[in-house]
Amino acid sequence: MDPVVPQDRSTDSCAVLTDQSIRDEFREHGLRCTVQREAIYRELINAHTHPTADELFTLVKERVSGVSLATVYNTLEALSGCGLAERLPPATPSGPCRYDADRHPHSHVTLPDGRVCDVPPDLDEQLHRGLSADAICQIEERLGVKVAHVRLSLVCQGEKACAADRSDSGSD
Ligand SMILES: [Zn+2]
Repeated sequence: MDPVVPQDRSTDSCAVLTDQSIRDEFREHGLRCTVQREAIYRELINAHTHPTADELFTLVKERVSGVSLATVYNTLEALSGCGLAERLPPATPSGPCRYDADRHPHSHVTLPDGRVCDVPPDLDEQLHRGLSADAICQIEERLGVKVAHVRLSLVCQGEKACAADRSDSGSD
Protein backbone atom coordinates (compact mmCIF):
# COMPACT_ATOMS: atom_id res chain seq x y z
CA MET A 1 0.00 0.00 0.00
CA ASP A 2 1.01 3.65 -0.32
CA PRO A 3 2.48 5.42 2.67
CA VAL A 4 -0.31 6.84 4.78
CA VAL A 5 0.44 10.54 4.74
CA PRO A 6 -1.83 13.14 6.31
CA GLN A 7 -3.69 15.33 3.90
CA ASP A 8 -2.63 18.89 3.28
CA ARG A 9 -4.61 20.97 5.72
CA SER A 10 -3.50 24.35 4.39
CA THR A 11 -6.84 24.75 2.66
CA ASP A 12 -8.97 24.02 5.68
CA SER A 13 -12.64 23.63 4.88
CA CYS A 14 -13.43 25.14 8.27
CA ALA A 15 -11.65 28.37 7.38
CA VAL A 16 -14.82 29.99 6.07
CA LEU A 17 -17.44 29.24 8.64
CA THR A 18 -20.81 30.82 8.01
CA ASP A 19 -24.04 30.19 9.85
CA GLN A 20 -25.32 28.56 6.70
CA SER A 21 -22.32 26.27 6.33
CA ILE A 22 -22.80 25.09 9.92
CA ARG A 23 -26.48 24.45 9.29
CA ASP A 24 -25.61 22.57 6.10
CA GLU A 25 -23.15 20.40 7.99
CA PHE A 26 -25.71 19.70 10.70
CA ARG A 27 -28.28 18.78 8.08
CA GLU A 28 -25.85 16.52 6.22
CA HIS A 29 -25.09 14.72 9.47
CA GLY A 30 -28.70 14.46 10.57
CA LEU A 31 -28.27 16.84 13.49
CA ARG A 32 -31.04 19.18 14.57
CA CYS A 33 -30.03 22.86 14.43
CA THR A 34 -30.42 25.08 17.46
CA VAL A 35 -28.77 28.42 18.20
CA GLN A 36 -26.93 26.88 21.14
CA ARG A 37 -25.71 23.86 19.23
CA GLU A 38 -24.44 26.07 16.41
CA ALA A 39 -22.62 28.32 18.89
CA ILE A 40 -21.03 25.35 20.66
CA TYR A 41 -19.88 23.83 17.37
CA ARG A 42 -18.50 27.17 16.17
CA GLU A 43 -16.51 27.61 19.41
CA LEU A 44 -15.18 24.08 19.14
CA ILE A 45 -14.02 24.65 15.57
CA ASN A 46 -12.42 27.98 16.42
CA ALA A 47 -10.78 26.79 19.62
CA HIS A 48 -7.97 24.65 18.10
CA THR A 49 -7.14 23.64 21.69
CA HIS A 50 -9.10 20.39 21.94
CA PRO A 51 -11.14 21.79 24.83
CA THR A 52 -12.89 19.85 27.54
CA ALA A 53 -16.63 20.31 27.96
CA ASP A 54 -15.96 22.67 30.88
CA GLU A 55 -13.52 24.77 28.86
CA LEU A 56 -15.96 24.94 25.98
CA PHE A 57 -18.75 25.94 28.34
CA THR A 58 -16.61 28.86 29.59
CA LEU A 59 -16.09 30.02 26.00
CA VAL A 60 -19.68 29.59 24.88
CA LYS A 61 -21.48 31.12 27.85
CA GLU A 62 -19.81 34.47 27.10
CA ARG A 63 -21.49 34.50 23.69
CA VAL A 64 -24.77 32.70 24.22
CA SER A 65 -27.00 33.50 27.15
CA GLY A 66 -28.80 30.67 28.88
CA VAL A 67 -26.51 27.89 27.71
CA SER A 68 -25.88 25.26 30.37
CA LEU A 69 -23.02 22.86 30.95
CA ALA A 70 -25.49 20.03 30.36
CA THR A 71 -26.30 21.47 26.92
CA VAL A 72 -22.59 21.59 26.12
CA TYR A 73 -22.18 17.96 27.16
CA ASN A 74 -25.24 16.87 25.21
CA THR A 75 -24.15 18.78 22.13
CA LEU A 76 -20.66 17.33 22.26
CA GLU A 77 -22.18 13.87 22.50
CA ALA A 78 -24.38 14.60 19.49
CA LEU A 79 -21.48 16.07 17.50
CA SER A 80 -19.29 13.06 18.33
CA GLY A 81 -22.08 10.64 17.55
CA CYS A 82 -22.71 12.00 14.08
CA GLY A 83 -19.04 12.41 13.16
CA LEU A 84 -18.77 16.20 13.24
CA ALA A 85 -16.38 16.05 16.18
CA GLU A 86 -14.23 13.51 17.85
CA ARG A 87 -14.03 12.72 21.53
CA LEU A 88 -10.41 12.18 22.48
CA PRO A 89 -9.68 9.71 25.26
CA PRO A 90 -8.70 11.27 28.59
CA ALA A 91 -5.00 11.52 29.34
CA THR A 92 -5.58 9.85 32.72
CA PRO A 93 -8.36 7.43 33.69
CA SER A 94 -10.09 10.07 35.80
CA GLY A 95 -9.31 12.98 33.51
CA PRO A 96 -11.80 14.79 31.28
CA CYS A 97 -12.33 13.93 27.63
CA ARG A 98 -11.30 16.52 25.08
CA TYR A 99 -12.98 17.26 21.80
CA ASP A 100 -11.69 18.00 18.31
CA ALA A 101 -13.72 19.35 15.39
CA ASP A 102 -10.81 18.95 12.98
CA ARG A 103 -11.79 15.83 11.09
CA HIS A 104 -8.69 15.72 8.88
CA PRO A 105 -6.41 12.85 9.84
CA HIS A 106 -3.75 14.36 12.07
CA SER A 107 -1.59 13.41 15.02
CA HIS A 108 -1.69 14.71 18.56
CA VAL A 109 0.77 15.49 21.30
CA THR A 110 -0.59 15.04 24.82
CA LEU A 111 1.12 17.27 27.37
CA PRO A 112 1.77 16.25 30.99
CA ASP A 113 -1.17 18.37 32.18
CA GLY A 114 -3.53 16.62 29.77
CA ARG A 115 -3.76 19.38 27.18
CA VAL A 116 -3.55 18.24 23.57
CA CYS A 117 -1.71 19.94 20.69
CA ASP A 118 -1.83 19.08 17.01
CA VAL A 119 1.47 17.95 15.54
CA PRO A 120 2.43 20.62 12.96
CA PRO A 121 1.37 19.29 9.53
CA ASP A 122 4.89 19.26 8.06
CA LEU A 123 6.21 17.22 10.99
CA ASP A 124 3.13 14.97 10.97
CA GLU A 125 3.86 14.22 7.34
CA GLN A 126 7.52 13.56 8.17
CA LEU A 127 6.50 11.14 10.93
CA HIS A 128 4.16 9.28 8.61
CA ARG A 129 6.77 9.01 5.88
CA GLY A 130 8.91 7.08 8.35
CA LEU A 131 6.23 4.46 8.91
CA SER A 132 6.63 1.03 7.40
CA ALA A 133 4.06 0.46 4.65
CA ASP A 134 4.96 -3.22 4.84
CA ALA A 135 4.09 -3.37 8.55
CA ILE A 136 0.74 -1.73 7.82
CA CYS A 137 0.09 -4.29 5.08
CA GLN A 138 0.86 -7.08 7.52
CA ILE A 139 -1.43 -5.55 10.13
CA GLU A 140 -4.21 -5.51 7.55
CA GLU A 141 -3.56 -9.13 6.62
CA ARG A 142 -3.21 -10.51 10.13
CA LEU A 143 -6.14 -8.62 11.62
CA GLY A 144 -8.32 -8.75 8.51
CA VAL A 145 -8.86 -5.01 8.49
CA LYS A 146 -8.39 -2.14 6.06
CA VAL A 147 -6.38 0.74 7.51
CA ALA A 148 -7.96 4.04 6.46
CA HIS A 149 -5.35 6.27 8.00
CA VAL A 150 -2.74 6.25 10.72
CA ARG A 151 -2.94 8.71 13.57
CA LEU A 152 -0.06 8.95 15.93
CA SER A 153 -0.43 10.02 19.52
CA LEU A 154 2.68 11.27 21.24
CA VAL A 155 2.48 11.36 25.01
CA CYS A 156 4.89 13.69 26.77
CA GLN A 157 6.42 13.50 30.21
CA GLY A 158 8.49 16.66 30.30
CA GLU A 159 7.39 20.24 29.92
CA LYS A 160 9.50 21.09 26.91
CA ALA A 161 7.84 18.62 24.60
CA CYS A 162 5.55 21.20 22.99
CA ALA A 163 7.22 23.94 21.01
CA ALA A 164 5.08 26.65 22.55
CA ASP A 165 7.70 27.75 25.07
CA ARG A 166 11.34 27.64 24.07
CA SER A 167 13.03 30.41 25.97
CA ASP A 168 15.89 28.44 27.45
CA SER A 169 18.46 29.12 24.72
CA GLY A 170 20.87 32.02 24.71
CA SER A 171 21.50 32.46 28.43
CA ASP A 172 25.12 33.42 29.28
ZN1 LIG B 1 -6.48 17.74 16.76
